[in-house]
Amino acid sequence: MGRLEGKNVLVTGASSGIGQAIAVRFAQEGANVAMNYRGEPQEVQQTQEMVRKVRSSDARSSASVKDLPVQADVSQEVQVQKMFRQVIESFGSLDVLINNAGIQIPTPSHETEMADFDRVLGVNLRGAFLCAREALRHFVARGTGGVIVNNSSVHEIISKPTYASYSISKGGMENLTKTLALEYAGRGIRVNAVGPGAVVTPINKAWIDNPKAREEVCSHIPMGRPASAEEIAAVFAFLASDDASYITGQTIFACGGLTLYPEFREPWSS
Ligand code: NAD
Repeated sequence: MGRLEGKNVLVTGASSGIGQAIAVRFAQEGANVAMNYRGEPQEVQQTQEMVRKVRSSDARSSASVKDLPVQADVSQEVQVQKMFRQVIESFGSLDVLINNAGIQIPTPSHETEMADFDRVLGVNLRGAFLCAREALRHFVARGTGGVIVNNSSVHEIISKPTYASYSISKGGMENLTKTLALEYAGRGIRVNAVGPGAVVTPINKAWIDNPKAREEVCSHIPMGRPASAEEIAAVFAFLASDDASYITGQTIFACGGLTLYPEFREPWSS
């Protein structure tokens, strides 16, 4: 029996990368998975096919196990509210929200257009809060708790020059995670985050297929390699499950040691 058997889950940004891997992993764990996409349904078609493949290869799965593609730009209040209504109507309730959708627009800070800054904060932080608020409204109303897991980053705590809006959004996500965890702990609602390091996903296309750039990235990671999206999805599954029933307000860094000050691998001062 999977750890998320019968749980109703919404994954934002499920059309690629870590979100896609989470949708697949959660289906493997027995969950009903609502897969959010931003624009057109085709965006999430591959994820839906992968989720259905899990189901069809699992002898225990039944026709009652559901998957649901659901549209919303997570930065848009009306679209987010409509998405939650659709998920709750279709599944009957929601147990787990995964705030995964995220973008980055790198520029030197002195050259940053405010529209780009607002877009990154709008998706990564405002969007995460908007979705969390809708999930919390549902969790509070039904009175039986719930789980939120945010996709943060090592840049929650490691500053990243030329990615100020991204770093600021992930720093804010730490506070979002802790504040909501404290505010709702007494109502059986847990709020945690995963802080990935470098992961092989489309957001990193700048270095993934460039051997020289990839080697440079790997040289900074104590474990010497980036993570797969599946390795990160496994941490989400743990935090969403009852195995993490006494954990709230935490970020688990799944980063191959990036948060350990790698420059100190060799002692260079007394
Ligand atoms: P990705 O680009 O493959 O995934 C981002 C997803 O978010 C896509 O599915 C995209 O369609 C969706 N999205 C973007 N804007 C949206 C919006 N307005 N509304 C709804 N969905 C939207 O990259 P990824 O690496 O899988 O990123 C997923 C999350 O992981 C992000 O929050 C990112 O910050 C975080 N993260 C990634 C890494 C990494 O190295 N890949 C490291 C740390 C944190």
